[in-house]
Amino acid sequence: MKLPFAEPFKIKMVENLKRTTKEEREKYIKDSYYNLFNLKSELVFIDLLTDSGTGAMSDIQWSELMKGDESYAGSRSYYQLKEAIKDILGFEYFLPTHQGRAAENVLFSVLIKKGDIIPGNSHFDTTKGHIEFRGGKAVDCTIDEGFDPTLNYPFKGNVDLNKLERVFKENPIEKIPFVIVTITNNTGGGQPVSLENIKQVSALCKKYGVRLFIDGARFAENAYFIKEREEAYKNKTIREIVKELFSYVDGMTMSSKKDGMVNMGGFIAMRDPELFREASVFNIMFEGFVTYGGMNGRDMAALARGLYESTEYDYLEYRVKQVEYLGKKLKEYGVPILEPVGGHAVFIDAKRFFPHIPQSEYPAQLLGVELYIEGGVRGVEIGTILADRDPETGKERFPKLELLRLAIPRRVYTNNHMDYVAVAAANVFEKRNDIKRGFKIIYEAPIMRHFTVKLKRL
Ligand SMILES: *Cc1c(COP(=O)(O)O)cnc(C)c1O
Repeated sequence: MKLPFAEPFKIKMVENLKRTTKEEREKYIKDSYYNLFNLKSELVFIDLLTDSGTGAMSDIQWSELMKGDESYAGSRSYYQLKEAIKDILGFEYFLPTHQGRAAENVLFSVLIKKGDIIPGNSHFDTTKGHIEFRGGKAVDCTIDEGFDPTLNYPFKGNVDLNKLERVFKENPIEKIPFVIVTITNNTGGGQPVSLENIKQVSALCKKYGVRLFIDGARFAENAYFIKEREEAYKNKTIREIVKELFSYVDGMTMSSKKDGMVNMGGFIAMRDPELFREASVFNIMFEGFVTYGGMNGRDMAALARGLYESTEYDYLEYRVKQVEYLGKKLKEYGVPILEPVGGHAVFIDAKRFFPHIPQSEYPAQLLGVELYIEGGVRGVEIGTILADRDPETGKERFPKLELLRLAIPRRVYTNNHMDYVAVAAANVFEKRNDIKRGFKIIYEAPIMRHFTVKLKRL
């Protein structure tokens, strides 16, 4: 028999989970105004709210914490991280920051002026926020295939070269300070970008004299997809793929809370010493001196180790296969999901799950609430509540996709937990027709309403 897949680690320390009853959960979620962000984490059995900063560090990372050097300037841990970034990613210069959005804040402070245009593939929301805050405009050049939730395509995160060249041609080139490609494409469902595509985008950027940056939060997961799905790279190691990928670009922003395998942190890495000097000024202002930038020495040491661990094939195989496993189980039970399953999360399609519930009653939120009541599982709504109101008309925006995202933390749950999640979702699916109405909003903030919204059952 072919040996089955198993987690490539054993568990040295455990964190006990509290069991609650369905009746208790009904009360907890009602008391939280049906907002999953309001739940105390100890009332959640399996927490799939996000994969950001929720992963488990290894024994070696924990030992790095003990060895961290907390010197203000010139910390040994800073140099350890600098070495790791050079070795794994190939960049000569880097600045630590407290998380990914802080890296964006610092880099964009140097590069973006009012009226600038920043093309990319479905910019992440903090990326877009930092572009728009400076009066810039984020232009989405993702391939059309990326917007079709039922289409099985290997690299749905790819940049459409024609769309990108049109942006270059139709605008004064000095208004385009850089292009940013997000790998994997988080907003698009954790969909990868091919190495061939990066190479072509890089060539196009060079032709027009525009810099190219990578938003690399999930660069290692992306490299795994390249190895698995791109013929030319199937015999390359993950580290070879990562090295080659970054060789085509000018720099990157990083949220270390994802493929950095740590709970907090970020950085900017780059090749140009002049850009490094300019960005250092903003880093010192916003984050901290250049050799710590908002991070503890020990956390830089754990991150340095994390970059090696996240680029190990066995880890990545486990990681991506676990996400796939949950997707497969859900499909077996008939639960409608987006395909192909991305690198960090499974998305349940709430429109197909609750076809009788209009978007104005927030079906994806309803699904999230019902899944919590059924099994104590917490996902997150990526739908109408998140889409918020149009700032000009004040009307609600109804997005094409109404989804419940189940994001899987790294090295935290076993496949038994995934079985449990799938059965909980299947149980809700079985009684979907008995659930007749959704919610109405009784309180919402003027922006980013999803974090604090209060709901009432209809
Ligand atoms: C999480 C994330 C960010 C922002 O990073 P934070 O560490 O949350 O500030 C930026 N881009 C992508 C693709 C992300 O997933």
